Amino acid sequence: MSDQIVFGAECTWWGTSAEAPDGVCPQCGGQLNTLPGETAWLARAQQIAAESVGLPVDYVELVGWLRDRCLPSLDAAVTAYQQEVGP
Ligand SMILES: [Zn+2]
Repeated sequence: MSDQIVFGAECTWWGTSAEAPDGVCPQCGGQLNTLPGETAWLARAQQIAAESVGLPVDYVELVGWLRDRCLPSLDAAVTAYQQEVGP
C-alpha cells in the first residue's frame, strides 16, 4: 500500500502524509487535502494539465518540481519554476 498524498488547499506544497505528520503544510501551516496515492495524484495532475490551456509550462512537470515547495499560488509557482528551470 502506497502512502497517501497530501497537498496544500491554499498553497502548492505536496508530499506524502508521513511528511506532514501534523496534518498541515509543514512550511506554512495551511490546510491539506488528501488523495489515496501517487496514482490518483498523477491522474489529478494530468487532468489539471489538460484543463490548463495557456499555462506557459507543462503542469505535470511543474507539479513534479513543486514537491516539498510551498508557494502561495499557481502563478507564483510558475514564476519560480521558470526562474529556476527555465521557460
Ligand atoms: Zn504551504
